Amino acid sequence: MLFVILIPIVFVLLAIYAKRETRDCRWRADRTRDTDEGALYHCIYCGAETRTADGKPPQVCNQPEA
Ligand SMILES: [Zn+2]
Repeated sequence: MLFVILIPIVFVLLAIYAKRETRDCRWRADRTRDTDEGALYHCIYCGAETRTADGKPPQVCNQPEA
């Protein structure tokens, strides 16, 4: 009976923490700095920069505390 209560709580907590990682990040593509290695994305919220090979914005913030 205890698991019936705990499992939904765990899923809710996971959803909250997963969302928190990307909540404040605002990725912007910097096309002037693209290279063969991939598109460069700059987070205007925390200043993190990263490259993605698939051309899509990153899903996580590299500097969540900055
Ligand atoms: Zn960020």
